[in-house]
Amino acid sequence: MSQYNIRKRDGLGRTGLFRNERTELRLPSAVDTIDIFPTPDVMHLTNLPLCAPAAVARKYPPPKDMQPVTIHPQLDSSAESGDCVMVANWHTAFANPRNYVDWLVTLKKKTPVDTAWYAPAAALPSTAAILCYSGFDLFDFTAVDLKTAQGIFCTAEGEFSADAMKSGICTCPGCAGKNLKEHNRQGLRHELALVTRFIELGQLRDLIESRSRLNANQVAIMRHLDNQYLFMEGIQPVARSGVMRANSGDSMGRAEVRRFGARVLTRYIPPRTDVAVLLPCSARKPYSLSRSHRLFQQAIGGRAHELIITSPLGLVPRELETIYPAGHYDVPVTGYWDAEECAFFSGILSHYFRLHPYRRIIAHLEGGALKVARQAAALAGITLEYTCGEHPARNAALNALDIALAGERKIRDDRLHGMASYQFNIDLDSRGINLRGHFPEIFYSRNNDQLFSIDTGTGMLRPTLDGWNLITEGYRVHIDDFIPEGDVLTPGVIRADPAIRDGDEVLVVGARALATGRAAMPADEMLRSKRGVAVHVRKIKKLQVQ
Ligand SMILES: [Zn+2]
Repeated sequence: MSQYNIRKRDGLGRTGLFRNERTELRLPSAVDTIDIFPTPDVMHLTNLPLCAPAAVARKYPPPKDMQPVTIHPQLDSSAESGDCVMVANWHTAFANPRNYVDWLVTLKKKTPVDTAWYAPAAALPSTAAILCYSGFDLFDFTAVDLKTAQGIFCTAEGEFSADAMKSGICTCPGCAGKNLKEHNRQGLRHELALVTRFIELGQLRDLIESRSRLNANQVAIMRHLDNQYLFMEGIQPVARSGVMRANSGDSMGRAEVRRFGARVLTRYIPPRTDVAVLLPCSARKPYSLSRSHRLFQQAIGGRAHELIITSPLGLVPRELETIYPAGHYDVPVTGYWDAEECAFFSGILSHYFRLHPYRRIIAHLEGGALKVARQAAALAGITLEYTCGEHPARNAALNALDIALAGERKIRDDRLHGMASYQFNIDLDSRGINLRGHFPEIFYSRNNDQLFSIDTGTGMLRPTLDGWNLITEGYRVHIDDFIPEGDVLTPGVIRADPAIRDGDEVLVVGARALATGRAAMPADEMLRSKRGVAVHVRKIKKLQVQ
């Protein structure tokens, strides 16, 4: 019996501990797999091409009861939780990025999540990152040793002729000893160590956007995976606490970026007002902490709903400014937005204007953001007012904004209501709720009972048990008849709201206990995994059983 305890997940990428009779192995890693699987001599039976049609594949079923368990896009998967699965010939998939992604999604959907994924003879220093991003975590040295035999010097940035070893590119012990084989193996180990670190930081995507640039097929794989939005959205955490680097056009394709836009349009409920001001973003996050936004808010004086126009998210209503990724992205600022960005953002904005008609919309913008607002207004058939052409934070522009809002009534500041609609898809009754604290460390309570706080890491709402009384449905994880002692493990889960994603705040509901906590995996995986933490529990309340 083998088992795979996943420690940290980042999309399809993960780190963890794999154990079987022979070994205990931290993944991702590259090893001589002959040492860890008892029957490597039958591997030649598994050498079916990935493109083999179903009729052919069925004639060559993989050997039974063998580890690793061979899986193939055209065959039913017999893999179970804890198994190591092997996809033979995966290195050939790189030649056709569209097939790579189709096969990968097919295989992932029919295989339990808590399985280790072995890609034999596939990993080079230059492919290890995208393989881990695709959800593989066990590799061997076959591919790098083959490069050694061909006299090729491998690096994460690509392959060179062997004389590169003398050029000072690398100073590993292999290079010092003029040992190409050792350098190439070391190069793979080194890259896997780096990938592991990025997974632990929750920044594997940032690494992939950088690494893939030297290989067109890898860029294509990343984009085809992004196009599988429903699949990718389901596995991306709903919140991270680190920076999201949006340094390339591909950042707009990230499932997390698209999910933010989708939720603003489908879940978010704006406050009751018919005046809006469109504002530029700031480098500092959340925006309210920046000097320019303090000036904007002084000029507006609460007399309009504030909407921030920004790349790569498009539109961030003021109430959502702390929520991941709005409070976390970093983007290169040049003042220039290309046509594709403008089309993407104006699409979101015009859709929003059609859903939520305002009597007046004031564009307090310049440059690319102003262009986006103009395009969106044209698409939605509305007229904008303008309070600056340049320098929105200068006195002249701020005065114009103040004057434009003269006579407008102050609206009720209800950050909690907006955040709850985005995060829990509810129309929260926030009457009588007070807030205290210093932004963004805010606590909400009613009659001295604390209901919610804002998590300063993720910028999301964190309900208390009393707070959950106001969230009447959804985001529940139903457990069996037991009182959790600490975290809820997957075998204890009997039902979970399909909307739950990794990182969501959830209410654990059982016959004998209620608990607040944070989901450690999406609902779908809670039900498909035999091992692992489903919910990190924060507070447990025992119930009286009749
Ligand atoms: Zn070296």
